[in-house]
Amino acid sequence: FGTPYDEVYAENAFVPEKESRLSVLANAVSYGTGTFEGIRACWNPDHQELYLLQARAHYERMARSARILGLEPPHGPDQLVHLTAELLRRNGVRADAYVRPLLLQAGEQLAVRMHDCGTRLYLAATPMPDDYIDRRGVRCTVSAWRRTADAAVPNRAKVIGSYAGPALAKTEALRNGFDEAIMLTGDGYVAEATTSNVLIRTGERWATPAATDDILAGITRSQVMRLLREHTGAVVEERRVHRSELYSCDEALLCGTAVLVTPVVEVDGRPVGDGHPGETTLAVQRLLQAISRREEADHPEWTTPVYGA
Ligand code: PMP
Repeated sequence: FGTPYDEVYAENAFVPEKESRLSVLANAVSYGTGTFEGIRACWNPDHQELYLLQARAHYERMARSARILGLEPPHGPDQLVHLTAELLRRNGVRADAYVRPLLLQAGEQLAVRMHDCGTRLYLAATPMPDDYIDRRGVRCTVSAWRRTADAAVPNRAKVIGSYAGPALAKTEALRNGFDEAIMLTGDGYVAEATTSNVLIRTGERWATPAATDDILAGITRSQVMRLLREHTGAVVEERRVHRSELYSCDEALLCGTAVLVTPVVEVDGRPVGDGHPGETTLAVQRLLQAISRREEADHPEWTTPVYGA
């Protein structure tokens, strides 16, 4: 990511980032109490328009996360989409960008609890480099660090503090010479990568871990499953996936808001397919990128214009 845009939304007002005062004593700083989202904004130079990708779906997920944690979001999803567009307009964003909504326990209570800790909403945005979408593919390793169980820290609530696990896994992977880590569930099934979901193809069938396999069932994952079914007629199963399937599949991809769709070319030293990015993966990557900028007429309901209408 580039240098963040200067204006942020903090505690009910748009302010320069330097004036957004989140205390070092904020409950969330010590205990990771809060939930977050990541939303992609995609610039179309021909339309001179910026599109938010699946903004409402992200805020609906944030509302569900807040319900799990018992937090009160200050606004509903529609108002949050509106504030997000306003943030981008105020910063004059005319390039691909990434928005970070945070719902935090910002009160200065040093107490381990989820109630009465001053829930506040923050929004910030940062540019995304043009080359953020990876066409050459990544080399993955299966991490020794496991995903937390729903009964420990629910991954579907996208809890800030729960990202210490993926952070450990990512550092381990990079230090061992890989690009990304794939984490397993506590009982050893494939869960997800550190900030993206995993889909694999063996023969004609695609498979991805089910939403009940201790993953964050991503919005991009839903889009990719839909595009695979609609455009290739593929069978896509949501089911438990074994580690050995990662080592023997013909095609694999990671998908998430930040990476969009990324081919996996190797897992723990075994080439995926012939070791080159999968053709279907690259086709879905192109299609989703085109949809996200409305270069493609398909699924206009997935995008919201920031400047127009
Ligand atoms: N899994 C994890 C752990 C993530 O952090 C993310 C990114 N939000 C994803 C999957 C992908 O989710 P989405 O497509 O909704 O961004």
